[in-house]
Amino acid sequence: MTKKDIRRLSLEDLRLFFTEQGQQSFRANQVYQWLWQKGAHDFEGMTNLSLETRELLQEHFVINHISVDQMQRSSDGTIKNAVRLHDDLIVESVLIPTKTRTTACVSSQVGCSLDCTFCATARLKRMRNLNPDEIYDQVMAIHQESLLYYDRPLSNIVFMGMGEPLMNYNNVLLAIEKITGVEGLGMSPKRITLSTSGVPKMIKKLADDHVKFHLALSLHSAIQEKRQVIMPFAERFTLDDVSEALVYWYEKTKRRITFEYIVWDGFNDTDQDIRALVQFCKKVPCKVNIIEYNAIDDGDFKQASEHRIQAYTQALERAHIPVTVRRSRGNDIDAACGQLANKH
Ligand code: SAH
Repeated sequence: MTKKDIRRLSLEDLRLFFTEQGQQSFRANQVYQWLWQKGAHDFEGMTNLSLETRELLQEHFVINHISVDQMQRSSDGTIKNAVRLHDDLIVESVLIPTKTRTTACVSSQVGCSLDCTFCATARLKRMRNLNPDEIYDQVMAIHQESLLYYDRPLSNIVFMGMGEPLMNYNNVLLAIEKITGVEGLGMSPKRITLSTSGVPKMIKKLADDHVKFHLALSLHSAIQEKRQVIMPFAERFTLDDVSEALVYWYEKTKRRITFEYIVWDGFNDTDQDIRALVQFCKKVPCKVNIIEYNAIDDGDFKQASEHRIQAYTQALERAHIPVTVRRSRGNDIDAACGQLANKH
């Protein structure tokens, strides 16, 4: 008999298990706390349970906990974890410290099925979706590193690691439920941002499911013909459909969306590109985050000049659209946006 992964069980399932085994059902609460809040890696360590109970659990279940295979630290304090899953696949997650915050950037899939030409993760085949507990464990590992190295708890989470979170919808939402729930980390959903390349149907579903976290869209071009050159799946998920879904999202949630945008030299740095972005931004309340391009091994992209980036920020500001320019972190260890590629 292959043992079941205990973290697939809800609290209710676990209660039922104990009752069926002739034990008191409140044991389930204790076990649940060990599994989620305390992030237990094994049953032996569940010290407030009797030896008999621990052996019973051992007999029936496994805990498929992740392990941090390798941890790299950047000169700017960024930490990258290479995370080994129970089936020996690897994903990466990143801790990004600033003066006041610690942000965890976590993966939602092993590899990615999207084929963005500028992203290193796109060079990896999508192997499988991550389970809720595998996403949760990445967050927990970074929370613990934050306490250890920065003497403060994790403050924010971004789903901007490997994979497309909206193509692993259920598991990502289950993970967030645990991250925000009292039985887990109890973090406010306002401190969580999910970033998507733009899957219209799923953006609408988020709104229908009344999620409380923030949404970001990797836009990079507001011109359909251009966007689909660098993000080929955008041929199917067109800007028209994406913007319609975003309007729907805003109407339901009243939360403003963030557009992530890279400006490349000779690709999207003309006045026409800027005008298209400003027009696009008028469709729905938003802010724009211009992110620095991180060179990847086989890419022929180059970040646009400071001057052209300024042209963007000025045009957006004139149109009263909030804009920030974000500097990259962790480049020296390939931990920056778009650089996660299991190189170690
Ligand atoms: N698939 C989701 C989640 C990944 S987020 C999404 O696309 O939003 C990763 C972010 O890094 C995205 O905004 C992506 O566009 C950006 N990115 C990818 N490659 C990059 C690179 N080489 N330099 C800077 N940002 C990059």
